[in-house]
Amino acid sequence: MLRICICILICLSILSCNKKKATQSQKKPEVEQIKVIKKKADTRIKFYLTFDDGPYHTTPNLIGVLKELNVKSSFFIIGSQVEFSPFFDSLFNAEKQISLFKVYNHTYTHAVTHGRIKKYYADPENVLADIQRNKDVIKTGGNITRLPGKNTWRVGVLRNKWDDKTKKLIDLLDSTKNNENIIGWDIEWTLKQSGDKNKVDSLFNLIYAIANKNNTEKKDIVMLSHDYLYRTPASLENLRYLVGRLKNELHCSFNWVEEMDGISAVDGGTNNK
Ligand SMILES: [Zn+2]
Repeated sequence: MLRICICILICLSILSCNKKKATQSQKKPEVEQIKVIKKKADTRIKFYLTFDDGPYHTTPNLIGVLKELNVKSSFFIIGSQVEFSPFFDSLFNAEKQISLFKVYNHTYTHAVTHGRIKKYYADPENVLADIQRNKDVIKTGGNITRLPGKNTWRVGVLRNKWDDKTKKLIDLLDSTKNNENIIGWDIEWTLKQSGDKNKVDSLFNLIYAIANKNNTEKKDIVMLSHDYLYRTPASLENLRYLVGRLKNELHCSFNWVEEMDGISAVDGGTNNK
């Protein structure tokens, strides 16, 4: 009888223990689920991949990867670069024909023929003429320009940012009622990201932090990069990696700059012209 009682007690103890374990294992997924919900991606993020200073020798490899990733991209073109050689001219014309891409104005000279950036911006009428000259060369891009060497914004009432050196130009644009949209950037892909996947992760974390700020304006995130940075297989692979993370973890949409809130685009970077 005693043996039977001991057996019953052991069995009850095992059952109780299993029940406890089962309860714990049932709770675990709930905890993990909360984590997932907390980290749920913000689908309102509009991301803008922008590439400056082209066309360049590296442009074909870069556009090959962007086509493969199927992401809309914006290219800010230097007119003097287009006219540098028939090869660069053909690169530009080929790029312009691809419906996934839009091309915009990055001035004709990029301040090169006028020496230092400071001297360039000291003569706003010349900068305006440089913007206009580039429009005649690239024959597209509408009223959307990125200034050389300056993170300047002039997009309606939503984004306005300039320093003392570019203020004269902004005043000139205002006084002449020139409806030029000036596009800056929020983050930059530099040479470091081209060669180091860990730096790409750091960039992604920065994008994540911007996207999670309580500032709806920052749901538009513009990344500056340059065609010439994609000269190695590693740099192209790192670009694939970043875009993959932006798609899979943040569920970003990829857009052209003319689709940005506040832009009053006139004949944007339309292709096939
Ligand atoms: Zn530039």
